[in-house]
Amino acid sequence: MRRQFIAGNWKMNTNRAAAVALAEGIAKAAASVANVDLAVCPPCCYLEAVGKALAGSKVGLGAQNMYHEKEGAFTGELSAGMLVDMGCKYVILGHSERRHILGETDAAINKKVHAALAAGLTPIVCVGELLAEREAGKTLGVIQCQFAGSLAGLASERMAKVVIAYEPVWAIGTGKVATPQQAEEVHLALRKILAEHYDASVAEGVVIQYGGSVKPENAAELLGQPNIDGALVGGASLKVDQFLGIIAGAKENR
Ligand code: PEP
Repeated sequence: MRRQFIAGNWKMNTNRAAAVALAEGIAKAAASVANVDLAVCPPCCYLEAVGKALAGSKVGLGAQNMYHEKEGAFTGELSAGMLVDMGCKYVILGHSERRHILGETDAAINKKVHAALAAGLTPIVCVGELLAEREAGKTLGVIQCQFAGSLAGLASERMAKVVIAYEPVWAIGTGKVATPQQAEEVHLALRKILAEHYDASVAEGVVIQYGGSVKPENAAELLGQPNIDGALVGGASLKVDQFLGIIAGAKENR
């Protein structure tokens, strides 16, 4: 049975005090949340402080990126082992801002996915089309290609541990949310791709989040779709009440 999973991507926002206050607010409110998995992904420099604020709560800690090598001369990078050491359970990989602003390729993301899983992290692997690709009718082809590239070479047991986030690039931080029908169409397609590459049990088990301008006002309808298993939330995860409003829109899963 898939559970809903709501994760906040704080991106390059907050400072130490604000990050700790946000984490404390979410941790406190999460005490009364049942049947929904929760995580926050602060900037890496605040992982430790936020981890302390979350200690003993139901909210998991996640990072926003990592490098695939274990150690060595890779200035500025962090390894999966370092994230585990800091208390991380999750890591976002292949976010569209990393793909499109920082030039990350599917091949690079794929190496990171393997390294994250080997270290015991749950990767949240983002896929999603640009507006021009959607308008050209290429959405499902783009998703198929990103899936094949970013998630290549995973055995079933490993794939079963991956979280996929469908994030149409045109909906991220723009206030333009995909309609529940547009999102559900892609989530269903992803599940079919999983069934083709693996089997029905893997396809039914993998959690697929939606991301892109999720707010308390649109969360329930999006999360009510049969193949949408949660949300990766950017802007609205920076305010406790908004993040809670989205969590309230998550239902007990099928
Ligand atoms: C994101 O950062 O993954 C995201 C979906 O951002 P926003 O919710 O602000 O669109």
